Amino acid sequence: MRVDRDLDGTLIYGMTESQSSPTPDLGPDLGPPLVPAPADIELDALARDAEAAESTPARSRIPSAPPSFFGLLPEEVEGALVAAGWPGYRAHQVLDWVYAKRTRDPGAMSNLGKAQREQLGGLVDLALPRIHKQIQSPKGDSVKYALELSDKTRVESVAMLSKRGVTLCVSTQAGCGMACVFCATGTLGLTRNLKADEIVAQVVHMLETTGWEDPGFNIVFMGMGEPLANYAQTLKAINVLRADEGLRVGSRRITLSTCGMVPQMHRLAKEGLQVGLAISLHATTDELRNRLVPINRRYPLRELIRAADFYATHTGRRVTLEYILLAGVNDKKGDAERLADIANALPCKINLIPYNPVPQLPWQRPTDEAIQRFADWLFPRCPAVTLRWSQGGEIAAACGQLGAKA
Ligand code: SAH
Repeated sequence: MRVDRDLDGTLIYGMTESQSSPTPDLGPDLGPPLVPAPADIELDALARDAEAAESTPARSRIPSAPPSFFGLLPEEVEGALVAAGWPGYRAHQVLDWVYAKRTRDPGAMSNLGKAQREQLGGLVDLALPRIHKQIQSPKGDSVKYALELSDKTRVESVAMLSKRGVTLCVSTQAGCGMACVFCATGTLGLTRNLKADEIVAQVVHMLETTGWEDPGFNIVFMGMGEPLANYAQTLKAINVLRADEGLRVGSRRITLSTCGMVPQMHRLAKEGLQVGLAISLHATTDELRNRLVPINRRYPLRELIRAADFYATHTGRRVTLEYILLAGVNDKKGDAERLADIANALPCKINLIPYNPVPQLPWQRPTDEAIQRFADWLFPRCPAVTLRWSQGGEIAAACGQLGAKA
């Protein structure tokens, strides 16, 4: 039995007196949903839209505009420079300046020739998105960024510092089309998929602006959006981040979270990567999960669990089952027992996440006592459970709060 409590287990971020008050009793069979899950959501159409959005470029490029450096693999950077007549070794020097020395200003790249320093910006675009807004938590251990992309679309990213080091939480889409009923981003709908460079740029940006030095920093694809609905660009971003001449973020330091896009989970398992996979389970019956996480109507629990098992056996990495605790909804003893049954049949660990309240949404975090009770039911039945008090709640930067007004 292993119980971790982040942040010393003492601080509950984002909880105010009123939010911790008891929730309406929904009755033994849950009663009608507090927020009706969108009954008209057409999941096939949703999946088709995600695929179509992936296959069409997010925006047309002005022919002469250079590609963003941050969407290119090292060999592609080399290709772009060699095409302009540069010797190949110059690309390695540029990659070293940007990723190892964290210098994006060509003028400061002292081992390049003067003409090359002047030409570089016309061959690859080294700019990062503009910060629209930046909010720091009072303790200074979380920073939430709203970044403005070149078409004025805004996305949010969060940098977190804890005893375990630095974790960078990035978005893969602007908004999200998955419509999970408890999630702030889910209420926004999908604006568009991000391109690989826009995903990588969030990481580079946070490393640069926080100045936090942790060579073993972790990246979680748990910001806005469903990474597996933007499969190709997310995978490209992972490969750029992993590259030896890039930031060298080992797969094991990357975790991708999905609401349960089963075919893409199978596909990811076969990529030969060892990226961590977290699954937003949140419910242990199809009846409840259909209402909380609408994609469940397309890929029910049985298929989701089979895909999780396939991922774990294929990659040799235990998956993480994320389970948010919603007061009166999924926090009863029967839920804990079913969760334990699911977990015991899978190579997995469980991440219990007390719900971070979202303004305008009626869902509540259970009381501390109810959270503890749920943990006490679960812990003896399961080998690896972590109770995660999300960081960043004070600045609306905790899980599921992105897109909410801070
Ligand atoms: N689309 C991905 C990533 C979403 S964010 C996914 O669904 O997994 C990462 C986690 O935060 C998910 O488990 C998500 O369900 C959870 N989450 C969403 N809203 C939340 C909230 N208000 N409080 C706590 N966790 C939340």
